[in-house]
Amino acid sequence: MRWSTEKAVVGSLEGCETVKVLVGDEQREFTLRRELLRDSCAFFKTHLDSIPSPSSASCPGNGGGTDSEAREGKQQQQQQGQEAEKAEEAEGDEDEDTVLWLPNEAADMFEIFVLWLYQRKRFASFLDHAIHAMTPDECRSLRTNLVRLHLFAAVIDLPALQDAAMDALQDLYLRFDWDMSPRFLAFLYGDCDAQHAVRLRKWAVAMLAWTLHGGADKAPALAGPVDRLFAAYPDLRADYQMHLHKMAQSRADVRIKNPQLRLPANRLRSGERYFGFRQCTFHSHRATVGEGTCPHALALGLSHPAAHRWDGEEVESDGSDADHAIIISPVGDLSERSYLDLS
Ligand SMILES: [Zn+2]
Repeated sequence: MRWSTEKAVVGSLEGCETVKVLVGDEQREFTLRRELLRDSCAFFKTHLDSIPSPSSASCPGNGGGTDSEAREGKQQQQQQGQEAEKAEEAEGDEDEDTVLWLPNEAADMFEIFVLWLYQRKRFASFLDHAIHAMTPDECRSLRTNLVRLHLFAAVIDLPALQDAAMDALQDLYLRFDWDMSPRFLAFLYGDCDAQHAVRLRKWAVAMLAWTLHGGADKAPALAGPVDRLFAAYPDLRADYQMHLHKMAQSRADVRIKNPQLRLPANRLRSGERYFGFRQCTFHSHRATVGEGTCPHALALGLSHPAAHRWDGEEVESDGSDADHAIIISPVGDLSERSYLDLS
């Protein structure tokens, strides 16, 4: 999918100040509206603001964003975003586009980011439409890139993007009725930063529990691999046991409560809540929104405030959750995603 060049997605750039973003080793080029990108989150604001404007072209010390990040102690490794020299210097023309390079990200993931950036309100329907034309391999590739997008959103600290990626991932699993694969779990617990992957892990563990308890045909085949995973990743075992404990506490039936199915607030009163999870269970604001309407839906005008609060048991919250307080700093070393295969 090349959403970044589709007029229906990005509209016209005419008259807009633009920025070129190069993504991945191959430096696939994306031309985006500068203001839109800059206003999306602090990560892009910091990096775009640190690129000298054409009128103040000198660049003392070089790499403004990189240096200031380091001075602020924002941890770790090489910088995620790198400001390249002006295109005009490289190409010798009058192109005044500034250039930002994300060397460790996947260009196919960034295509989905661009879709979200320009079409937040219609993000889900664009994806839904696109899936109809995809081959099974392309759908699996989309899954991989949604996982990458979720992690990218954690790295650049953009919760709304992370939550949109989670919704899309759940919907994709529901559509194809995919199971949680041992390989996906090994990736999340073996290769990912625990903070970045915290919500994906939570969801994956719920998926695993549902798969192991729900299908007599699937559980036996998974038993061996899962035992090996539990032995290799004690955190996975602990998260799994905690999930089962919470489900038992809230009298939820792990056999039928499907983590693929997300329910908006206005459907929680119905019996559907036994068969799915409330919409914000795996969202960044899980601990603060309670049983209310998802704030993203409100912000995008996709829903109305709930007139009531459901007073039943709190199925998924453990009361000690402080996910929303975690501050995630940009890091550069995300190469684990380059061989990502979740089948
Ligand atoms: Zn939400």
